[in-house]
Amino acid sequence: MRLGILKEAAPGETRVALLPDSVKALVAQGLEVYVEQGAGLLAGVADEAYAVAGATLTSDRTALLGSADLLPVVNAPDETSQRLLKSGAVVAGFLRPLDDPAVLLPAIERGVTLFAMELVPRISRAQAMDALSSMATIAGYKAAVLAASSLPKLFPLLMTAAGTVPPAKVFVIGAGVAGLQAIATARRLGAVVEAYDVRAAAGEQVRSLGAKFLDVDLGGIDTEDKGGYAKELSEEALNRGRDLIAKTCGYSDVVITTAQVPGRRAPLLIRRDAVENMRPGSVVFDLAAPAGGNCELTRPGETVESGGVTIMGPLNLPSTIPYHASQMYAKNIATFLKYLIKDGKLTLDRGDEIVRETLVTHAGDVVHPRVREMLGLPAASP
Ligand code: NAD
Repeated sequence: MRLGILKEAAPGETRVALLPDSVKALVAQGLEVYVEQGAGLLAGVADEAYAVAGATLTSDRTALLGSADLLPVVNAPDETSQRLLKSGAVVAGFLRPLDDPAVLLPAIERGVTLFAMELVPRISRAQAMDALSSMATIAGYKAAVLAASSLPKLFPLLMTAAGTVPPAKVFVIGAGVAGLQAIATARRLGAVVEAYDVRAAAGEQVRSLGAKFLDVDLGGIDTEDKGGYAKELSEEALNRGRDLIAKTCGYSDVVITTAQVPGRRAPLLIRRDAVENMRPGSVVFDLAAPAGGNCELTRPGETVESGGVTIMGPLNLPSTIPYHASQMYAKNIATFLKYLIKDGKLTLDRGDEIVRETLVTHAGDVVHPRVREMLGLPAASP
């Protein structure tokens, strides 16, 4: 079986799907690995490192696309590349099938099997394949670092001959994977941190990182689904959170907001008046920008200023730390591929939860029920 690694073509993308360590492990499993020249350069990995790991380098992207049986990717290949794929090939990556399934139509027409890494279930046995958590970890860290460097103040408490500097006050909204990493990083930099989440279970994790958890009485409603994710809240419950958020923003130097509800636009939690109430020089770092943003003034992909407050809404933070983002992603995707390969052959057990949840198309047949619906296809017969 031949596995191909492409140089990612999406604008601003610096990550690569596999690093040499993972390549070595897959070669040892009997796979032939072909790497497009320069695939790892932006992540800080030279072509020679792939060659040493047992891969063959090629400058012929067209031939690579047309011959690969397995194509682990970071992002979905562009339309031209999809049209060059080998019929029956398997592509796995952040394919965003629930955001924009139509982008995948050329690959579907080529009879390709597509796996979406963002759909890996959050179950214990799939933890090593959980690429969303890996990228959220990177994003949470970088959010705290960038917020610290944009603030016109220091983060840590300093007692110097020139006076005492109080620690910065950081408020983290949403204490999932990214939020917890942002808390841990801001604490390491010396800030005093408070955090809020609708899931009561997050409280213990926040406190264990040395931050204060802000509780809101949401009227005893159930805020968590059986997968551990937040549920979409009513306007009334959201408003209770918004009041606390506006009050806390008023005295915080930095607000890092990460709140998301899977499959929905990110909840609007920081209203314009809450930003107007913040001190000049404060920073709002909106990690939910790719899902529309938590702050009313966020412009996804931009940094804007309003009344002296900086509002940052980056779209691809993991790409700003491409080496470790690629290393973690490579580990996730290589574990996923190894799970699918048995005795040197790709084996799809459609009854298995990990396969069932991530499989979008099988040999060109759209099998994911929500994707079928979004593409206007009739429900598949059971
Ligand atoms: P996410 O990115 O979907 O959301 C980020 C956070 O925003 C979540 O903590 C959510 O509760 C919070 N949020 C949503 N609406 C909010 C609102 N209105 N106000 C305040 N906060 C709001 O979440 P995630 O980081 O991907 O993880 C969510 C859950 O999944 C967590 O419980 C996490 O521990 C769990 N998880 C489990 C595994 C595993 O078992 N393998 C792996 C990763 C995550």
